[in-house]
Amino acid sequence: MTYSPDAPGSAALFERALAVTPGGVNSPVRAFRAVGGTPRFMVAGRGALVTDADGRDYVDLVGSWGPMILGHAHPAVVAALQERATRGWSFGTPAPTEVELAEEVVSRVAPVAQVRLVSSGTEATMSAVRLARGFTGRSKVVKFAGCYHGHVDALLASAGSGVATLGLPDTPGVTGAAAADTLVLPYNDLKAVAKAFELHGGDIACVIAEAAAANMGVVPPHPGFTAGLAELCRAHGALLVSDEVMTGFRVGPAGWYGLEGVAADLITFGKVIGGGLPVAAFGGRADVMARLAPAGPVYQAGTLSGNPMATLAGLTTLRLLTPDIYAHLDRTAARLAAMVSEELARAGVAHRVQAAGNLFSVFFVDQEVRTYDDARRQETFRYAAFFHAMLDRGVYLPPSAFEAWFVSAAHDADSLQRVADALPAAARAAARATPEGTP
Ligand SMILES: *Cc1c(COP(=O)(O)O)cnc(C)c1O
Repeated sequence: MTYSPDAPGSAALFERALAVTPGGVNSPVRAFRAVGGTPRFMVAGRGALVTDADGRDYVDLVGSWGPMILGHAHPAVVAALQERATRGWSFGTPAPTEVELAEEVVSRVAPVAQVRLVSSGTEATMSAVRLARGFTGRSKVVKFAGCYHGHVDALLASAGSGVATLGLPDTPGVTGAAAADTLVLPYNDLKAVAKAFELHGGDIACVIAEAAAANMGVVPPHPGFTAGLAELCRAHGALLVSDEVMTGFRVGPAGWYGLEGVAADLITFGKVIGGGLPVAAFGGRADVMARLAPAGPVYQAGTLSGNPMATLAGLTTLRLLTPDIYAHLDRTAARLAAMVSEELARAGVAHRVQAAGNLFSVFFVDQEVRTYDDARRQETFRYAAFFHAMLDRGVYLPPSAFEAWFVSAAHDADSLQRVADALPAAARAAARATPEGTP
C-alpha cells in the first residue's frame, strides 16, 4: 500500500497553526524541520495505529514519545477516565489516586522512599536539581552532552532531543548566570567526571544523567558508567540524579534501575507514569526528600500536581503492565531493530542500530555511538529520506534521527508486517539520499 505524500488536511491545519503559534507547533520536533515536509496532524489513535487529519492511518512508533505503552485508547484506561470524569477531575486538594500512584512507584523502585508528583518531566528534573542544591548547599551541576532533561535553563547546554534535532547552539534566553553553574561533560566518560570532581568537588551539588541516554538517539551507558557515577558522587558528597523520564516503567517494571541495579539518590519519572496525561515525578532517599516543602525548606508546588484524572491514567496504565507485556515489548523492539538493520544492510547503507532495553534507534554512521559527538557525525539526510519513505507507506517514525523509537503492547504481527512491507523501499531511499535531497 503506497500513500500519496501530500496531506491536504494536515497542510491546511498547519497553515492555520503557523498564523497563531510559533513554528506552528507546541513542541519543536513535531514541526518536521529535521525531515522536511508537512507535519501530520493526528485526530485519533487505536492500539498500534494513529489516524491523521486526512483519514490515513499509520503504525505508530512514537507513542506520544513513550507514554502510550499499552497502545492508544486502551479500553481499561478509557473506562477508568470516563468514570472519573463524571465525578469531577480537579480539586486542588489531596486525592486518593495520588497516594496510590506514589505507593506504586515506591513499591517498584527500591531507591525511591518518597516521591513528589508534578506535571512534566521538565518540572521533575528542575525540582530535583533544586532539591539537590538545597540539600547539599552547593551550586554546581554536572550534566552530559546529548542528554536531555527537559527545557530547564541550567540543563539546556548541549542538550539532546529538539536541541540536537534543530542543531541549535545553546539557547538565547538562558542567562550566563543560569548556565554558569552547569558543567557539561561527554557521556560515558568517567575520567572526565573524576576530573570535574577533582577540580570542583566541593561545589558540585549533583550529577544528572539520563539513566540510558535516548535523546541523542539511543546510547546506553557503558558497563560500569552508572556505578562509577554513583561512587564518585558518594565519595564527594554530591547526589546522583538519574533521569528516568524516558526509561522509567518503559524498559521494565522498575525502569532502568531494575535492569542495572545501581541506586541513585534521586530519580525523575515522566512519560509512562502518566499514561499519556500530564504526570511526572521525582523521588529518592528519605533524608533528601524530607528537605522538600512542606516537610522541609526547599520550595516546590503545582496547581495541577497529582491531578486526579492524570494520576488515574498513570495508575491504570502501570497496573496493566504485566511481565508478559514487558516481554512482548522487548521481543517486538528486538524484532523491529533486526528488521531495520537487515534491510539497511541489504541496501548497502552504513548504519548502527543501538538499544537500551526496549528503546532503540538507528544511526546512519559506521561505528559505535558512545557520545554526543559520535551521534552528531551521522548522515541525518539519510534519515530524512528513510523517514518519508516510511511515512508514505503508513509507518510513523520519530521525525528526527536523534530520537528513540517506541513500541507498545498493541504492536502485533499485523503492525510488524506493515513495517516490514515498508522497509525495503525506505532502505533504498536512504541509500540514494544525498545531502541535497533524494534523487
Ligand atoms: C522527555 C524527557 C524529559 C522532559 O519531559 P517533558 O515532560 O517533555 O518536560 C526529561 N528527561 C528525559 C530523559 C526525557 O526523555
